[in-house]
Amino acid sequence: MSASQVGQPFGQSSDAAKALFSAFEHAVDAVVITGLGSEIRHFNSAAERLWGFGRDEVVGRNVNILVPEDVRANLDGVVAIKAALPAAAPVKGRREFRLQRKDGTEAWGAFSISRVDYGGKSLYINFVRDVTDEVKDREKNALMALVAEKTDRVVVVMDRDSHIIYVNKAFTDLFGYSLAEAIGKHPQHLLTGEYTDYEAITRFHASIDADGHGHEELLTYDKDGEAIWISTTVNADRGANGEVKCLIAVLVDITESKQIHSLQHLTLENLANDMPVLDVINDLCARVEAIAPDVVCSVLHVDVDGLLHPLGGKSLPPGFAEAIDGLLLGPEVGCCGAAAFSGEAVLSIDIATDPKWQAYNKLPLQAGLRACWSTPIKAKDGRVIGALGFYFRESKAPTRWHQTIVQNCVNLCALVIERHEARSEIARLAYFDALTGLPNRAQLHRIMTRQIDASGPHGRIAVMFLDIDHFKDVNDTLGHSVGDDLLVSVTQRLCKQIRPADTISRQGGDEFVVVLPNCNVEDAAAIANRLLESLMPPIQLGSKAVPVSASIGVSMYPDNADDIDGLLKHADAAMYQAKLAGRSTYRFFSADMNRITEERLAFSTALRNAIMQGACACTTSPSCELMEVSMAPRLWRVGRTPFSAMSRRQNSFRLPKNTVSSR
Ligand code: GH3
Ligand code: MG
Repeated sequence: MSASQVGQPFGQSSDAAKALFSAFEHAVDAVVITGLGSEIRHFNSAAERLWGFGRDEVVGRNVNILVPEDVRANLDGVVAIKAALPAAAPVKGRREFRLQRKDGTEAWGAFSISRVDYGGKSLYINFVRDVTDEVKDREKNALMALVAEKTDRVVVVMDRDSHIIYVNKAFTDLFGYSLAEAIGKHPQHLLTGEYTDYEAITRFHASIDADGHGHEELLTYDKDGEAIWISTTVNADRGANGEVKCLIAVLVDITESKQIHSLQHLTLENLANDMPVLDVINDLCARVEAIAPDVVCSVLHVDVDGLLHPLGGKSLPPGFAEAIDGLLLGPEVGCCGAAAFSGEAVLSIDIATDPKWQAYNKLPLQAGLRACWSTPIKAKDGRVIGALGFYFRESKAPTRWHQTIVQNCVNLCALVIERHEARSEIARLAYFDALTGLPNRAQLHRIMTRQIDASGPHGRIAVMFLDIDHFKDVNDTLGHSVGDDLLVSVTQRLCKQIRPADTISRQGGDEFVVVLPNCNVEDAAAIANRLLESLMPPIQLGSKAVPVSASIGVSMYPDNADDIDGLLKHADAAMYQAKLAGRSTYRFFSADMNRITEERLAFSTALRNAIMQGACACTTSPSCELMEVSMAPRLWRVGRTPFSAMSRRQNSFRLPKNTVSSR
């Protein structure tokens, strides 16, 4: 083609051809006219803009310079097809293909092609429209549709009146409604139920109307009526004039996270309110059972000695908690004992046949519990401090939902138990003596207050102040730590002599206070004697047998004082009298009481002798607790000890059975 023909594909032509050529030149679409050999014969202005080539750069060259390398073979195929076309017939439809511009960038063109036979030659007129933006939009939309279809998030598209026009697969998976079932429906009618918060929905719509955006957490229901908590966010898609075109909602199933959150919230709130540990754990167990109705939940505490103690779980069968309390953890001690022992979760699919349940399965089986899954509860330092037990009524393993609950619960339980332990430790330090473990001065005060408050109008309480004799000598000769050991040994001996309701406390140094509720003067004297006698055998400390004794002062409530300080002060004063009397003895605060107890002592000695000589009759009371001794008047005076007028009038005494012996 000569230079004069550039841009004139029809050569020196008719007026009609010129008009056509001019129309091509002004066309919005690119027009590329090629000959049978694919050489470019015409390249209009739009083509120049699209490709960035000037027409004099391309006319005469092969058309494939207008497409990237990898498209050229396809282009050849199209050229072959078009060669077979009848004149003026367009290639069916429009094709899209990639273009390559002069600067190497790519774009998309949609082209249609027609063959024109002119002057015995075939020319091919290619109309090319730049569809780069359209293709990109289409690709983006296809990608969006793919994302909407593949995402776990539920996507719902509604028209401006909130009727559903699209739901994705995640919607169908979550709610059970197919696209066909959902289309045209209003989500407010399709997904709501008994406990849906309709006020929240009203708020939600108001927010969308005002801001084009809304967010709420709502309780919805699936096709089977199963409750599902969702977090839903709706955005309005607006047109150029601000009118709402559609509403796009993204829903997330928060059933698990919502319920776990409520479990955490409840427990933390209870802790913040300083609720007792048992109540906190019981509430936690009850909430677990509410969100996992197939579970019976229990929590055990493991103490420092490795003993199990139930902390909560009211749905356990009656008596089961008591049966577990105090068990030593071990591999065969049910699931909880085994889990706490191994530090790993333990599952028993069938507690009827599982050997580790053999000794403990009767009560749970009777209550219809068949399987148990227990997870150890660990402190921050890794110590096992408890076990969380999930019992199932069927023989089965935990589900993913159970595992989620447990993961969260063990942390909450650890928090509760650690706080419980810390508080117990603080209480122990505040109220108990570190060396002997006995109640300290502060705790004694609390105990005495309680006992004085509880004592009726005729209640008697004996208060003893006990101080070890010559304790300094032990410290000085054997050392302070042997002195400590001696204090511990003395504590053990004294504790064996008292009744469960009595209290021994250490006041500090070598001083102890013993409080005996419901105790009269005679009982107090007897117990003081027992305490002193218990210390008589020397205490073995290492290779040394250390002799020990103590002095005791006794005051009586309410005879000597009706307040704690007064009672302790008087008992201390009486103890000082016992020291003065030569130690290893006891004294009452009041002289009268001392005299009475001396009389009793002398009298019981005299009685013993009289009984030995057959000079009086003895009968035991029906309860065998007391011995009634009737005496002949001539025995009223024994030796030089004068008896009280009361004794003489009644001719009899009631003495504790073990204070006299009879034949
Ligand atoms: P007395 O017969 O008069 O009671 O003489 P004592 O030597 O026992 O003298 P006192 O009761 O006054 O002394 C008590 C001593 O106990 C004084 C103190 O050094 C010692 N002590 C105080 N606390 C402790 C302790 O925790 N451990 C030991 N080993 N000794 C203590
Ligand atoms: Mg002393």
